[in-house]
Amino acid sequence: MSRSLSPRATAAAPRWPGRLRSLAFGGDYNPEQWPEDVWVEDVRLMREAGVSMVSVGIFSWALLEPTEGEYDFAWLDRVLELLHDAGILVDLATPTAAPPAWFSRAYPESLPVTAEGVTLGIGARESFCPSSVDYRRAAVRIASALADRYSDHPALALWHVHNEYGAHVGPCYCTASTQAFRGWLRERYGTLDALNDAWGTSFWGQSYGDWEEITAPRRAPMPVNPAQQLDFRRFSSAEYLECYRLERDVLRELSPDVPVTTNFMATACPHIDYWHWADEVDVVTNDHYLIAEDPENHVHLAMTADLCRGLARGRSWLLLEHSTGAVNWQPRNLAKAPGEMRRNSLAHVARGSDGAMFFQWRASRSGAEKFHSAMLPHAGTDSRIWREVVELGADVGALAELQGTRVRADVAIVWDWEAWWGLELEFLPTVDLDYQERIRAYYETLWHGKVAVDFVSRDADLSGYRLVVAPSLYIVPGPVTRNLTEYVEGGGRLVVSFFSGLVDESDTIPPGPHPGGLRDLLGITIEEFHPLAAGDRVGVDGGLRADVWSERVVLRGATALRRFVDGPDAGEPAVTRHDVGAGSAWYVATRLDRHGLADVLEPALAGVEPLDVPAEVEGVRREGYLFLINHGDAEAVVAASGHDLLEGSEHDGEVAIPAGGVRVLRT
Ligand SMILES: [Zn+2]
Repeated sequence: MSRSLSPRATAAAPRWPGRLRSLAFGGDYNPEQWPEDVWVEDVRLMREAGVSMVSVGIFSWALLEPTEGEYDFAWLDRVLELLHDAGILVDLATPTAAPPAWFSRAYPESLPVTAEGVTLGIGARESFCPSSVDYRRAAVRIASALADRYSDHPALALWHVHNEYGAHVGPCYCTASTQAFRGWLRERYGTLDALNDAWGTSFWGQSYGDWEEITAPRRAPMPVNPAQQLDFRRFSSAEYLECYRLERDVLRELSPDVPVTTNFMATACPHIDYWHWADEVDVVTNDHYLIAEDPENHVHLAMTADLCRGLARGRSWLLLEHSTGAVNWQPRNLAKAPGEMRRNSLAHVARGSDGAMFFQWRASRSGAEKFHSAMLPHAGTDSRIWREVVELGADVGALAELQGTRVRADVAIVWDWEAWWGLELEFLPTVDLDYQERIRAYYETLWHGKVAVDFVSRDADLSGYRLVVAPSLYIVPGPVTRNLTEYVEGGGRLVVSFFSGLVDESDTIPPGPHPGGLRDLLGITIEEFHPLAAGDRVGVDGGLRADVWSERVVLRGATALRRFVDGPDAGEPAVTRHDVGAGSAWYVATRLDRHGLADVLEPALAGVEPLDVPAEVEGVRREGYLFLINHGDAEAVVAASGHDLLEGSEHDGEVAIPAGGVRVLRT
């Protein structure tokens, strides 16, 4: 079938959670991997586990459209009917992350090409170029066919477009992508003169005299023009977004009452600028997997969940995938300890997820992910994981009243994909710059300080926060300078780390000393960078230690709060403060360890109330509820009162949390 696309849908987006009356509990369900008698057992066990929703059909394109334009929905009809009869809702996927073999054979130009010029093959998944018109047409056609057939299905609760856009291939460097990039650049710059100027192409004689001369930034003898690289990353994120919109619009047209999402990989995907995607989905959904060998992986989980809430603009969101135990793609896939899955799931809920879902329902016997854990493991129902899944289903079921409630924070961290891209460019002053490392260092310091944190974009309204932290905010265009300045002038406290405010959107250094985008606000200039040798450390007043970075800061209105005690800038400012209007802007000129960051942040946090809980307890307030998650191996006691939704018990003034346990109090 063919369908002419209507102009971009303008009707009001349907409201999440739609048909879902509880928190979501379930996972990816891939019944096509099993004979039908297993489906009956699946649904029976889903009921036993309290499953409320499953994600279906994510990689089913080859089965649903076995040859071009020929559909087979009979098996999916039966799956949806079985689920509906059992009262289980469906998050129905468009299967466009896995183009069928027939498609790649018929349209070989649709295969993605790497920066080295290697055409990626088939036999895995994601073998498509986001700029391919053949791919886009085929993706919209299968999405339309699904919507035609199922838009009125009573089990349908959510559309799940694609899967993890851009996460595994990223930018495509093929001919079609190159042509689309030229079109995107024409839109952005209008004239070649403007492009040449923005990219600084007079350097290394790169000037362009014809749009057709411009290429995707393929592997070249030396680093490709950094402004071109940044634009290509913006373009690539936008190309994937356009693929999503094309499918979303046809789903919205044919089933206007069903919300639409696509699952993000918020902290794990460098290729997608999710701030541009966040308002295009009816609910933010995310996949999160613990880095098993990271001893503080629960803090990384919290950071990711808080970023998802930021992307959702403070509204609730949904964890669409995590794992019951080990994954299969890390070097050493450590299993989760007893109780760890429960703490993980409820930590996501604490931070705004309206549910906890998994990859996947039943462990696969074949294929690349057969050693990935599942809700129903290979060991069957007589297993620890199954028993914990059933218990977790009851827990999530007991939290239905939390649906839609919010988390409030007085502190925000600026998260910026463009800064991340900037710190991945070649030829920076040191290879030790690491965007996520600095974000995480500040986040961990606040997490251990029991302070709730929101994540915000660099252009967000910051006026509601007492403290905003901007680690490694490398790219600061004029409007961002104004936004941060207005925030501080209005009474806010801003803490900026080194390697911030250095360039504009075109990776061009503003005239004058660093940091051009922020020097007036911070009241400093930087005379010279002094990156440190590998392993070298420097001392800072007050017994603080730092590594990686030192620089010569000159006070231009700011005062020095701390000075370097040794290293190339001994005696010079290391931490500064500049009072501006009713607020203050702080600058940290080196990579302090967590102890040092806690010391620096303490005065900046004045007036922010930390939660009064023991060190090993993660406490989160979700509007009227208090989550207490004990990561320690001994019972912890917290001063709190309320009704424990999980245990059904009442607490008056004091609540004990067992080792590894969780309490959720209605306060
Ligand atoms: Zn391409």
